[in-house]
Amino acid sequence: MIIIKTAGDIINFFATTKVKTLTTGFVPTMGALHSGHISLITKAKKENDLVVCSIFVNPTQFNNAKDFEKYPVTIEQDIYLLEQAGCEVLFLPSVAEIYPNGLKTITHFELGFLDTVLEASFRPGHFQGVCQVVHRLLEIILPDKLYVGQKDFQQSMVLKKMAETNFPSLQIVICPTQREAGGLAMSSRNMRLTSTEKKHAVTISKALEYIKNNIMAGYIEDLKKNTIEYLSTQGFRVDYVEIADANTLKPLDYWNGKELIVVLIAAFLNEVRLIDNMIVND
Ligand code: AMP
Repeated sequence: MIIIKTAGDIINFFATTKVKTLTTGFVPTMGALHSGHISLITKAKKENDLVVCSIFVNPTQFNNAKDFEKYPVTIEQDIYLLEQAGCEVLFLPSVAEIYPNGLKTITHFELGFLDTVLEASFRPGHFQGVCQVVHRLLEIILPDKLYVGQKDFQQSMVLKKMAETNFPSLQIVICPTQREAGGLAMSSRNMRLTSTEKKHAVTISKALEYIKNNIMAGYIEDLKKNTIEYLSTQGFRVDYVEIADANTLKPLDYWNGKELIVVLIAAFLNEVRLIDNMIVND
C-alpha cells in the first residue's frame, strides 16, 4: 500500500498514464478502523481497479471540542488492517493539506431539510463540516465510486445531495452496517466504552430491533415515546428516537404500513454519543 500525505502527490499519482485508466473506489474515514470500515474497502475492491482510503479526523465536523480531543487514533493498526484488506492507496493528509486557507474558510453547502433534522439539529454545523472535507477529498481524488456506511444514515443522504450538484457522475455505494455478535453497531467511538458499557450499549440495537419487529400501521408516536422512556430508565441520555421516511428523512407520527421507513436513535452512554438505525421494511 502506498501512503500519500499531500494533495499534490495524490494529484501527481493519478496523473500518471498507468493510473489514469483505472477505475477508483474511495473510502473516506476518520481512522480507528474496525470491520465496518474494512467492509467498505472489501466492497470497493470488488468493484474497482484501485481503492483509496483516507484517514483524516476532520476538525470542522466536530461540534464538541471534547469529542474531537478524545477521538481515538490508532494509525499503526489502521495501516495494518488496510494492508490486510488489500487497499492500494492510503491518503493521510494534515489539516493544512485539507484546509489550505485555514479552518474558517466556510463554503456553505445547500442541504435543505436534511441540514435541519436529527443529527443536524443536535450537532449544528456537523454536516457542513462533513461536506467540506468530503468535497475537498473528492476534488483531489476524483474517484468513480464513493463508499459510505448505512451506519451514518443521514450522512449518506447528505453526501448524495452534495454530490448530485458537485460531482454528478460520482456513484455513491451505501454499505450495510456491520455489527458485533450481540448486535452493537461497530463504531470507532466504541473504543471509548469500558467493557461493561460496551455490553450495555447493545440496548440501542435491541431497541431498534424491537421497533422493527413490533411496529404496525397507524399512529406510531407512543412507540417512539415509550422507547425514549425505556432507554432513559436504562441510563442513556437520549437525543432522539425517530421513525422517518427512509427516502426523505421526514419524521412520521403516522405510518401507512407501506412507505419505506427507518428508525434512528442517538443517545449518550455516559460520555460517549452513539448512533444507530435500522430500515424497517427493506
Ligand atoms: P468514520 O470513520 O466514522 O467517519 O466512518 C467512515 C465510513 O465508515 C463512513 O461511511 C461510515 O458510515 C462507515 N462506517 C462506520 N461504521 C460502520 C459500520 N459499523 N458498518 C459499516 N460502515 C461503517
